[in-house]
Amino acid sequence: MSNRCVDEVILIGAGVIGLSIAYELATRGQKVRILERGEKVGREASWAGAGILPPANVKNVLDPLEKLRGISHQLHPLWAEQLKQETGIDTGFHQCGGIYLARKPGETASLAGYISLLKQENIEATLLSRDALLELEPTLDPDQFQAAYLLPQELTLRNPRHVKALSKACELRGVQIDTNCEILGFECNNGIITGLKTSNGLISGRQYCITAGAWSSELLRQVTKIPTGVVPIRGQMILFEGPERLIQHILNEGTRYLVPRRDGKILVGSCEEEVGFQKETTPQMIEQLSDFAYSIVPALKEYEISMSWSGLRPGSFDGLPYMGRVPDVDNLFMASGHFRSGIHLSTGTAVLMADLLTDQKSDISIGHFGIIR
Ligand SMILES: Cc1cc2nc3c(=O)[nH]c(=O)nc-3n(C[C@H](O)[C@H](O)[C@H](O)COP(=O)(O)OP(=O)(O)OC[C@H]3O[C@@H](n4cnc5c(N)ncnc54)[C@H](O)[C@@H]3O)c2cc1C
Repeated sequence: MSNRCVDEVILIGAGVIGLSIAYELATRGQKVRILERGEKVGREASWAGAGILPPANVKNVLDPLEKLRGISHQLHPLWAEQLKQETGIDTGFHQCGGIYLARKPGETASLAGYISLLKQENIEATLLSRDALLELEPTLDPDQFQAAYLLPQELTLRNPRHVKALSKACELRGVQIDTNCEILGFECNNGIITGLKTSNGLISGRQYCITAGAWSSELLRQVTKIPTGVVPIRGQMILFEGPERLIQHILNEGTRYLVPRRDGKILVGSCEEEVGFQKETTPQMIEQLSDFAYSIVPALKEYEISMSWSGLRPGSFDGLPYMGRVPDVDNLFMASGHFRSGIHLSTGTAVLMADLLTDQKSDISIGHFGIIR
């Protein structure tokens, strides 16, 4: 295939964000190409994540991030069904519900604050009595928790399956995906990108969008002096091989959680570590995560930790993703910095970015996510 196609939108990076934008653009009849430096697509943060989609509502919400979350939440069931029909891949998407737990007075107060925010957005959250908690999750020791709430609308999906389905659906819609293709730099003339210098030679298109996750700022710096704040924030995870239905809800305490899969696997995460681009796991964190898991579900001591891994989240300084046109460069865009919510926000991001790239009016004001802020 030619390396020069004047009609194409080129996405740089095939994580969940690049793949989702490609899928949405292809649905709208656009010619799309994704360039990914890895041997396979979606093997960085998008593979590593837990796949928790916390409840969100689009009605009566003014905050742009909450609106994006609400729109994304509404789209996930539709995308899961569509991807299944188109590719035959079951992404493991389902409404398992989440239980939010607090042990100490400080945690209890901050959880109560979170729940009252959810209620303002008409999101269902029920305070559980000791017996109700025990009935929902019999392996928990209810006496160690001061508060527990059930959020029935919490959803989950299996990240590796989701990115695999997205990639297959993209290909079925004619998206060209080049793996083993690293973007090394940009050719720029009078504020227009004329081509990408890649490990496979010069590749040109009509528009370019940086969707390179934690590596996005490094790429952007090659074209402009604008200092975006996308930084890698490492998260570690462990996986237990449990029996089916040992737990049935996502169990959240503070920033940590246990996520049950239907086949008995239980993911436990996570942490936020600023260690640059180092992707190793550490024995100390594996121990902390397993201690956390045992403290919530003591029965897990009987089961093996079969895997551990880490991923680099694209963090941003103010918690908002960067989405929009890169100032002073006509045909360069960016969608990155989704931090702990990239899987959740990927569907809404795809719609928003596809609106921008095709000059359509959007339901959400993209200005709040601007590259300069
Ligand atoms: C432990 C952990 C738990 C998480 N849990 C959740 C969760 O429960 N729910 C949720 O919504 N989110 C979660 N997240 C966050 C979510 O995974 C990320 O926000 C999301 O995956 C970011 O997607 P991305 O496409 O921007 O980045 P990535 O998935 O990192 O993809 C970027 C891609 O760009 C490629 N690339 C980089 N540089 C270049 C280059 N120069 N040339 C070509 N290609 C390049 C990379 O190889 C990579 O494939 C979690 C993340 C981690 C690490």
